[in-house]
Amino acid sequence: MKKILQDLSYGELEELVISLGEKKFRAQQLYQGIMRGEKISKINVSAELRSKLLEEYEDEPVKIIQTFHSSDGTEKYLFALADGNVIEGVFMRYKYGNTQCVSTQVGCRMSCKFCASTLGGLVRNLSSGEILCQVLTVDALHSAEFTPRAVTNVVLMGSGEPLDNYDNVVKFLRAVSAKGGINISPRNISLSTCGIVPKIYSLADEGLPVNLTISLHQTTDEGRARTMPIANKYKIAEILKACEYYFEKTGRRYIFEYSLIADENCDKAHADGLISLLKGRPCHVNLIRLNEVKERTLKSIDEKAAYRFLGLLTKGGLSATLRRQIGADIGGACGQLRASYIENNDN
Ligand code: SAH
Repeated sequence: MKKILQDLSYGELEELVISLGEKKFRAQQLYQGIMRGEKISKINVSAELRSKLLEEYEDEPVKIIQTFHSSDGTEKYLFALADGNVIEGVFMRYKYGNTQCVSTQVGCRMSCKFCASTLGGLVRNLSSGEILCQVLTVDALHSAEFTPRAVTNVVLMGSGEPLDNYDNVVKFLRAVSAKGGINISPRNISLSTCGIVPKIYSLADEGLPVNLTISLHQTTDEGRARTMPIANKYKIAEILKACEYYFEKTGRRYIFEYSLIADENCDKAHADGLISLLKGRPCHVNLIRLNEVKERTLKSIDEKAAYRFLGLLTKGGLSATLRRQIGADIGGACGQLRASYIENNDN
């Protein structure tokens, strides 16, 4: 596999063009082309520089190979990487802007029982440039429709555990929020984690005030360990302490994801458990009905029961919402597209 130009920071691009015998200002042209989501072969620099770059760097490291359109305007993509791996992403339209959901790893090694992304384990980490290219490619795809840019918000909620690929993810966060580039403010970026506690502390110290989202899904450590093996390593109490630190350092309210699973985590006792864990904290609870994954036996609850659970939380003093399910007609939960692609292309 060739190298990935989008992995380079602006300063690194300057060093590269100088090492190729070019004037330093060429870095600006290259950077602008990259940030517009252009392939190297299309960037407006000399043909000579383009061909030098193409000897060493991938022309298009992340390529859309399939698009699924939902009736609600949501689009899901299968992206091919240069080594033949595939990842997926989602583009969601909202009144206030558009959100791109990105993957941070090929597969995942967290083994959560409800999740399709982890079915085949971790294949490899994505580089910062491969994560960035997902945003830039989709932004470019919709550029005619929106000014100044199509993607206004980013969520790290695709395949992979972002804090298990910490250095590349932080490099991506710096690149995607850089002022001269696509310039998506950290306040418009949400990072979701299953709760890798030491890395939550590290992230708090990065000076990147992104929204921190924790996949909680249970109210006790024992219950949580039934569906999330990471719970054997880090306790809910430790996660909450790390969240407090995150809030102190960034001033950002944190969010808990809670996927409602029948007979598992959504009776009255669980609502009470959540209220006693979270009441009074600067946080919000995002409920979502489980997206049933065909390889898994876990079941969702109906909408009425979900609203009942939501009512218990809000009555108990928590800030909580039930997430609207969008794009449900085009391949459900994260990891499902890739899983079915692999299944269909395996032999
Ligand atoms: N690894 C990160 C980010 C990935 S997924 C994390 O664990 O947070 C984004 C969210 O979707 C997580 O809260 C995850 O637990 C949840 N999720 C995964 N599979 C799901 C499914 N089948 N139905 C509902 N939510 C799911």
